[in-house]
Amino acid sequence: MPASTGPSHAEQHYVNRTGWLRAAVLGANDGLLSTASLLVGVAAAAASAEQLLLTAVAGIAAGAMSMAAGEYVSVSSQADSEAADLERERRALERHPHRERQELAQIYQGRGLPAGLAHAVATRLTEQDALEAHARDELGITENGAARPVQAALASALSFTAGGLPPLAAVLLAPGTLALPVLVGLTVLSLAVLGAIGARTGGAPVLPGLVRTTLWGTLAMATTYGIGHLFHVSIA
Ligand SMILES: [Zn+2]
Repeated sequence: MPASTGPSHAEQHYVNRTGWLRAAVLGANDGLLSTASLLVGVAAAAASAEQLLLTAVAGIAAGAMSMAAGEYVSVSSQADSEAADLERERRALERHPHRERQELAQIYQGRGLPAGLAHAVATRLTEQDALEAHARDELGITENGAARPVQAALASALSFTAGGLPPLAAVLLAPGTLALPVLVGLTVLSLAVLGAIGARTGGAPVLPGLVRTTLWGTLAMATTYGIGHLFHVSIA
């Protein structure tokens, strides 16, 4: 029945893309804001152009590695528990096939199918791929949602790095006294763009998302500016 599988497939694809895009936007936001705040703090303490450049590169590298490591560990442990769950399920299917089919039928009944139909569906899916049916409908593990640690680590490192590029460009292209204003301006602009993209991919209204990210970003930069300025005053 291609007519009935078509729409649901397209819908699932859309949901997956949204999750992926939202993670990328969050990672970029992180890279943008932490690199910019770091640079604003160092610039406020009157650092040279070379020191700012070094700070930008070191900040991006450190942040990207930290994001990758954190993501790898968290997704790996999720993958481990998914694998353990699947293994438990595989053994249960081997030992108690009848009980497992009953269990599957009860799940479909719980979702609103009449008893006869629920048993027919459970029987059909058990013949087709029992483990897949139990993974999806009992454990909630799908092929699309399966945890991929290396992919997740790479994606967050890349999105963080991409987010760090506007502040890096600012200190690279606008040295001297222009560095700080260009850095802040470019960062606020990028935050607004990311906030708008994030809101749109989530299907939320654009303006509140844009205002939220821009406000928090300005607050973060104001904080590090204050800290950097204190150091500048105390060593000058
Ligand atoms: Zn089961």
